[in-house]
Amino acid sequence: MEFLDVAVIGGGPAGLQTARLLAEGGARVAVFEKKQEIGRDVVCTGFVGCEVFSEFGVPAETIGSEFQEAKIVSFSGRSIHYRHPVPFAAVVDRQRFDGILAGLAKKAGAEIETGTTVRDVAVSRDGLTIEAIRDGRPVRRRARLAVLATGIDRRLHAKLGLIPPKRTVHGAQVEIQEEGIAIPTIYVGPPTAPGGFAWSVPSGKGRFRVGLITDKHPQKVFEGFIARHYPRLDLNGAVRRLEFKPISQGMAKTTVGNRALAVGEAAGQVKTTTGGGIYYGLWGAGQASEVILDALKKDSLGSASLSPYERRWKAGLRREISVGFYARKLYSWMSEGQFETLFALAQSDGIIPLIQREGHFDWQSGVILSLFRKAAVAEIFKGLSRKTALLDRLLN
Ligand SMILES: Cc1cc2nc3c(=O)[nH]c(=O)nc-3n(C[C@H](O)[C@H](O)[C@H](O)COP(=O)(O)OP(=O)(O)OC[C@H]3O[C@@H](n4cnc5c(N)ncnc54)[C@H](O)[C@@H]3O)c2cc1C
Repeated sequence: MEFLDVAVIGGGPAGLQTARLLAEGGARVAVFEKKQEIGRDVVCTGFVGCEVFSEFGVPAETIGSEFQEAKIVSFSGRSIHYRHPVPFAAVVDRQRFDGILAGLAKKAGAEIETGTTVRDVAVSRDGLTIEAIRDGRPVRRRARLAVLATGIDRRLHAKLGLIPPKRTVHGAQVEIQEEGIAIPTIYVGPPTAPGGFAWSVPSGKGRFRVGLITDKHPQKVFEGFIARHYPRLDLNGAVRRLEFKPISQGMAKTTVGNRALAVGEAAGQVKTTTGGGIYYGLWGAGQASEVILDALKKDSLGSASLSPYERRWKAGLRREISVGFYARKLYSWMSEGQFETLFALAQSDGIIPLIQREGHFDWQSGVILSLFRKAAVAEIFKGLSRKTALLDRLLN
C-alpha cells in the first residue's frame, strides 16, 4: 500500500492550508474530507481581517466585499458609527474560499479526497492506518503522520492522544435576501446575546448574514434578537435557513501526540472574543507545517519531535486567547446598566480613537488591555469583587 507522509483529516481552512504548505515543502499529502464538496454548507459568516489575504497567500479573488466602517448598536438602541483609518475586514463566501484553498493545495501536489469520512486511526510503530468510508465502502490508507483538522468534531482526538478544548459557545446564523444593509452591524450588550453578541453582515447580491454567539440556548436567544431588531424579518423566506453550530473556546490541552497533531479549531485556535477561527487556523497551519517538515526530514515523528509546534503556537496565541476569554467573561457579567454606561463612554471618552489607533482585527489583546486600563472603564467594574479580581488577573 502506498505510504503517505501526512494524512490531513478535515478539509476546512486549517487542514487545507496545512496540506498546501506541506505539499509545497515536498511532502506527500492527502486531505480526507467527509463532505462531498469542499466548503459546502459551512455555518460561518466568513468575516475576516484583511491581513488574511496578504499574510497567508490567499488570493484576493476570494474577497466578496471589504469594509472600513461598522455600526455598533447597544441593547437600548443607541449606536456608534465606527470608521477605521483603512479597510479592516472582508467577507468571503466559505465555499469559494475553501475551494480556492483546496485548489492551491492540489496545485502544490496534495490529494483531496472528498466524500471520505475517517472513522478510525490506528497508530503503530512504523506509521498510522487511516480507516475511512467512501460511498459506503471502506477505504484504508497508511501514513507516517496525521494532522487532525476536524474543526469542532472531537471524535478522533482520544485515538491520537490529543485533548481538545473543554469549552464551547453556541453559534447561530441565517442568510437573508434583503437590499439596503450596506455595512456590518454589531449588536452588543448583555441581553442581546448573553455572553456574546449578534451581527448582520452584507454578504453580496443583496443578501446578508445575521448571526450570533451566546453562552445560552441559541434558538431562544436568536428568536429574541430577531423579534427586537428585525421584527418584520421572515425566517421562512431565508435563502439559507437558520443553523446552529458550537464553537470551541479556549486552547486545547494537548495538541501533539505520537505521529499526530491538531490544527485549527480542533486545537482551539479560535478567537475567544468573537468565535472567529479562520485567521488563527491559517496561522496555526503555518506553525504546524514548519515543524512537520522538519520532523519528516529527520524521520522523527514522536510527540517529543512535534512538541515545538505546541510550544510555538501556544506562545503565539496564549495571551490573545486568555485575554479574550476573560474579557468576554467580564462582559457577560455586566449588568445592562453598566454596559450602557460603558457604551455612553465609548461615544464620548476617547475610546473610539484608541480603537482606531491600536485596534487590530485578529490580535486584540493589546487594545482590550488598553481599554481596561482606562480609569473611566475600570471605574465601571469597581466594587464588584469577583469582577475586579478577574480584571486584576487580566492586567497583571
Ligand atoms: C455561526 C458561526 C459564524 C462564524 N463566523 C465566522 C467568521 O465570520 N469569521 C471567522 O473567522 N470564523 C467564523 N466562525 C468560525 C469558523 O467557521 C471556524 O473557526 C473555522 O471554520 C474553523 O476552521 P477549521 O479548518 O479548523 O475547521 P472547519 O472549517 O470546521 O473544517 C473541519 C472539516 O473537517 C471535516 N471533518 C470533521 N470530521 C471529519 C472526519 N472524521 N473525516 C473527514 N472529515 C472530517 C468537516 O466536514 C469540516 O469540513 C463562525 C462559526 C459559526 C458557528
